[in-house]
Amino acid sequence: MSKVVISDCNEYNLELLTRKLNSGIALLGGWEKYVSPGMKVLLKVNLIGPKAPETAAITHPEFVRALVRILKGLGCAVWIGDSSGGAIAGIAPTARSLKVSGLEQVAREEGAEIKNFDREGVVEVIPKSGLGGKMYIAKPLFDADFVINLPKFKTHSAGIYTGAVKNLFGCIPGLRKAEYHRLAPDPRDMGEVLTDIHQAVKVGLHIMDGVTAMQGEGPTAGTVYPAGKLLMSTDPLALDTVAVAMLGLGIEDIPILVSAWTRNLGESDLKEIELVGDFTSPPQLKGFKLPKRLKLIKPRNYKLVVKVIDFLKARPRVNLKVCKHCNMCVESCPVQAIDRETKVVNYSLCIECMCCHELCEHKAVELRRDNRILDFFGRFRRRT
Ligand code: SF4
Ligand code: SF4
Repeated sequence: MSKVVISDCNEYNLELLTRKLNSGIALLGGWEKYVSPGMKVLLKVNLIGPKAPETAAITHPEFVRALVRILKGLGCAVWIGDSSGGAIAGIAPTARSLKVSGLEQVAREEGAEIKNFDREGVVEVIPKSGLGGKMYIAKPLFDADFVINLPKFKTHSAGIYTGAVKNLFGCIPGLRKAEYHRLAPDPRDMGEVLTDIHQAVKVGLHIMDGVTAMQGEGPTAGTVYPAGKLLMSTDPLALDTVAVAMLGLGIEDIPILVSAWTRNLGESDLKEIELVGDFTSPPQLKGFKLPKRLKLIKPRNYKLVVKVIDFLKARPRVNLKVCKHCNMCVESCPVQAIDRETKVVNYSLCIECMCCHELCEHKAVELRRDNRILDFFGRFRRRT
């Protein structure tokens, strides 16, 4: 049986975070069960892009600071690492993300070492799913003696939810991530990629920052929801199962988790998960806004409904009134579907991975249903 700790934690207060983290890990056997003096411990944060902590798009730096202090107090060397999504001028924005997020400052002040996964070399692994041939994963994940995954509690406009399982996507350095979006545009296939990464990288603990969560059209364009929770487990799928249950959902509602479930990455049956800490059943996050897409993917078993759903699914469109012409979306699109000058999306190329929506720092990529409908009637008119 897997165990998940849920702790109440309503603010990024260092003393409170430290107390909650220590009491939570004590329920999983205590820090000494996992780390010992002299170990190199890697904190794999969520650094999706150059986002400030108050946006709830990234793992909060004070949460990371609390963990660095705990681990250094235990005699460990601490590394903080990730690779951001997207690209500008052919370069992933990880270095800028580390600055904007405040994580670089935390590392400097607390004596931790930054590991920008784009610059640390890779280790070649053979993915068990066979998707995409060889897989290249950032080297620090193999150099560290112990890896702790620190996901953020967020919605995802394409995948509905992103948590412990999804957070390891940042283990793929830089622009290689776009290649996986091209290979696996369907969230279920992306779930295979994520499961491959989890099977290659040995993560010892998963600790979710849900003090503030992102609701609505995450993982970057949603709004902040004060969830006030920390979740901890050695089992990423069990942690995600509990987190989605807090949203009133099941694993079957989250396409990117289906592979983790079918490939036995962890426990996905709530009855087989022991909940400890401040709750013995998943606390419901009242009024939490889910992505619009959820309503559309739920009845996926009926072919006709699926066709209607495909027709009604929102597609990305750049709002030129908001666009700053940074070209992050253009360079991040895995199939080059966005015109560099006009920012018009070529829907015959677009694979609807939603990377452009996810990565635009200015919320200029909107998800619209009307453009699909107009396109359909435009084509119909041209034929008649
Ligand atoms: S839509 Fe966003 S990412 Fe794309 S060019 Fe405009 S501001 Fe940059
Ligand atoms: S236009 Fe946007 S949604 Fe379409 S393939 Fe490119 S990045 Fe993905």
